[in-house]
Amino acid sequence: AEEVGGGDKEVVREYFNNDGFQRWRRIYGDTDDVNKVQKDIRLGHSKTVENVMKMLLDEGPLSGITVCDAGCGTGCLSIPLAKEGAVVAASDISAAMVAEAEKQAREELFNGKDEISPGLVLPKFEVKDLESLDGKYNTVVCLDVLIHYPQNKADAMIAHLASLAENRLILSFAPKTFYYDLLKRVGELFPGPSKATRAYLHAESDVERALQKVGWRIRKRGLITTQFYFSRIVEAIPA
Ligand code: SAM
Repeated sequence: AEEVGGGDKEVVREYFNNDGFQRWRRIYGDTDDVNKVQKDIRLGHSKTVENVMKMLLDEGPLSGITVCDAGCGTGCLSIPLAKEGAVVAASDISAAMVAEAEKQAREELFNGKDEISPGLVLPKFEVKDLESLDGKYNTVVCLDVLIHYPQNKADAMIAHLASLAENRLILSFAPKTFYYDLLKRVGELFPGPSKATRAYLHAESDVERALQKVGWRIRKRGLITTQFYFSRIVEAIPA
C-alpha cells in the first residue's frame, strides 16, 4: 500500500515496465504497427504536446529555463523542450520508459553527431516516482499521468508538484464530463485485453480546487479531443 490507492502504484509501475511499455511506446512513436484506436490516441496526444509547447512558448523563450517533466514516458515532451534550449529534468516511475526516452533524446538531440548542438542540454533522465521528486524548477509539467490517480490521491500529487514549481505548473488529465464518463463505463462493461490499468477521470473543478488549496490559480486552459482521446490542459500560476 503506497501513496496511490492500495498497491495501485506497484501495478502501474509493473504495467509500464512491461505490456504498457510496449503498447505506449508504439502509440507515442511513429511506426505503422498501431490499430485505428491507437492511431487516434497518438494524434490526440501529439496535439496535447503541441498545445503545451505553445502555452509555454507564448510566455517567452525556453532557453535556460528549468523544466521538470514528471512522468516523462518516452520523452514526447522532454525532447521538444530540450530542442528549445530548456534545461529538462525528466523522470518516470518506469525504468523501461526512462531508458526509451533517453535513447530517443540522444538520437534526436545529437543527430548523428558526437556532440549536442551548442545551446542545447541533454535532459537529465531519472527513474523516480513523482512523489519522491524534489528541488525547484521554473516550470513543472505533468502530462497524462493523473489518469493513474484517484481524486483522493490526486490532491496530494498536485500539491507536491506545485511545491516544486516556482513559476508555473501545467497538468493534463482526462476530464470527467458526462460523455466521456459514459464512454468509460461502456468500456468497463466490455474491457479489452490490453486494458491492464484502471483509468481515473477528473472533474476540472476538483483539479482547480486542489490547486487553489495550495495557493495556485489557473491562467490558461486547453481542451484536446479526438475520437478516443480527451485531455484537459491547465496552466496554473501562484495566485
Ligand atoms: N507524460 C508522458 C507523455 O505525455 O508523453 C507519458 C504519459 S503515459 C500515459 C503515463 C506515464 O506516467 C507512464 O510513463 C507511467 O510510467 C508514468 N507514471 C504513472 N504513475 C507515476 C508515478 N506515480 N510517478 C511517476 N511516473 C508515473
